[in-house]
Formats: sequence, C-alpha cells, structure tokens
Amino acid sequence: MTDFGSGDAWGDSDEDLLIDHVEKYEKSRQDSHVINNHCDDDDDDKLVTPLYKFRPGYLWVSDFTRQNWCEQQMYYSFTVPTIFEENPVMTEGSNLHLARELAVHDVTQVKVTSNEDIWAVKVINLITALQTMLNGGTIVREVPVFGCPYNTDVFIVGLVDELKFDPETFTLNLSEFKTRKFRSFPSKSQQNTHQLQVMLYKKLFDDLVKGNVSKDTVARHLRLDLHKAFGDDILQTIDSKLLSSTNLSQLLDDLYTKIQCFTCVQELEIEYQHQESKDIIGKHSVTYDEDRLHHMFNDYIKFWKGKREVRGVDIEEAFKCQSCDFADICEWRKRKAEECSKRNKSKIDNS
Ligand code: SF4
Repeated sequence: MTDFGSGDAWGDSDEDLLIDHVEKYEKSRQDSHVINNHCDDDDDDKLVTPLYKFRPGYLWVSDFTRQNWCEQQMYYSFTVPTIFEENPVMTEGSNLHLARELAVHDVTQVKVTSNEDIWAVKVINLITALQTMLNGGTIVREVPVFGCPYNTDVFIVGLVDELKFDPETFTLNLSEFKTRKFRSFPSKSQQNTHQLQVMLYKKLFDDLVKGNVSKDTVARHLRLDLHKAFGDDILQTIDSKLLSSTNLSQLLDDLYTKIQCFTCVQELEIEYQHQESKDIIGKHSVTYDEDRLHHMFNDYIKFWKGKREVRGVDIEEAFKCQSCDFADICEWRKRKAEECSKRNKSKIDNS
C-alpha cells in the first residue's frame, strides 16, 4: 500500500490524516482562487454553501457519519473553535487499525508534488487492492472508494476497512472494524451510524464496478488536470505495479478496466473488538437498504447544498447531548427544551 511522504501518513486507521493532507492543499487553492477573483456568480453562490464553506466542494464518508450522529454537533465543530485532544481510546483504536492493515500489506512512503499526485496515490491503492484479489488474495484492507451517488452532483470519498474476496464463488464481503472501550456492542444510535457508513461504502464501490463514475466527474469535482504528468515518485510506484500510466487519465482507465472484472459487494458486516483484551465482541451483518440510504443521502445533501437549515437531534436521542462538547451553547437544544416546557405548561393549564 502506498503512503504519503513527509510524515503525512495515509493508510492509517481512518480517513482523518488524509483529510488533513488534502484539506491543507485545497485551502491553499481556495485562498488563491479568492485572491485571483476568478469565480463567476455561480461560484460565488456555491462558496457560501456548507459544501464549500466547511469542505473543499466534496465530502468524506466520515462527514455523513458525523452528520448522522448529530448534524448540529458537526456544524459546531466547523464553526466553534475547540481544542482537539486525542484521548487514549482513540489512540488505541488507531493502533489496532494500523496493526490490522500491516498484517495484510506493507506501507511504502512516496513523495507527492501536486494534487494530481495525491489522488493518484488513492487510485493506485485501489488498483493494488483489486490486483491482489485478482491474483488470488482473499483479504485487502484500507481500500479507497469514491463517486457521485444518486446523481446529486456531490463527490464523496471513503476508505473501506476491509474487503474479503471468495475466488470460488467470486463474491465480495465488505467489513468495517470498530474498537470499543467497553466489552459490549454500542448503542442502537451508534450502530445506525455504522450501518450508514458500510452502506455508503457499498454504494461507492458498486458504482465504480458499474462504470457510473466518469473520468470527467472525478476531474471536475476534485479540480484535477487529468493530463498533468505525475511526479517522479508516483511514476516509480506505478512502474513497480507493472502499470505504465503517466497521468490520471491513463491511471483511471487502468482502474476502470480492473474494477469492472468484479461483481458488486454482496455482504456487509461490522466487527466490534474490545480494545484492552483485543477480544472480538461480535459481528453484525447489515442488510443493504437502497431506499433508506437514498432517502438519508438526499436529506443530508440538502444541508450541504444550503437548501435547508442545520438540525440537532430528535427528543428521543437527547441522551447524545449529555456527552456533547457543545451542549452549553447549543441553540437547538435550548429551543427544544423551551418547546418541551411550553407543551408541559399548556398540559398543566388544560388539566
Ligand atoms: S447538544 Fe445535542 S443537539 Fe446540540 S449539538 Fe450537541 S448533541 Fe447535538
């Protein structure tokens, strides 16, 4: 598996490090875009939507999982300055993810010299995973996926924890690995978030298999030059994989040729592991529900496109507010508490 150089590691347990890397790059592009004043009226409108205000015009699967937990909380995380402190539980979770990744492949560092190089790393890692399975490998980990689900014209990027391939039945099983401080399954709400995550991964992978993600879509949303020549490190890495692409256009052609040899993902699973003992708590299989995913996705995209106001949790999920860093300043919570006390008062008045 290929990794970024200069200490910015991708191939770690989750997407956060990669997000960081790309965001820094995108921020510098956005700043120069504004200074150069090259945006037309349409671009001006776009820049004020959450998709452009808080994200570089595309999203990560982890944005949806955070939104699924509480959209208002995610919104505050973008707008209210907080000090992020990594706690021991997160560090241990990352270590366990990394150990699993290293159990199936090595990580090589490469130097990236452009945004095109950064995205080439992602495509190379996906091609490598596919090649491993085509060569008889049964497990690949940290597999990048991307696409524009449901014609919403919003580009999504994700990193699948694990794909298991059965060469006899030619079936694919997609797994997400979660570590737990306590030796128990998480709450129903957390399980819902994990289910959304694996369903979205499947949607992105399947769309690639079906040829639903064009090169133009990738170039337009990520603002990439498909014909820009890769840097030396990327060219060497591509050569070591016995490929001959010199730019993203050719590399994406290689990807599409390989991925179309596969079938869509058949099974979805979430595996929970206890951090301290490393015991497996258990596995949940997830039934893919296209209607549910489509409905949730469309609803969430409305927020990102600025077509509806931000929302907090429903009253049934108010328990989430107890452990929320923004509980003291949360306007949604305040409004819901006022509505509740008004309702109670009118019940008493009418009794
Ligand atoms: S207090 Fe509750 S509604 Fe407000 S951001 Fe936190 S979890 Fe969401």
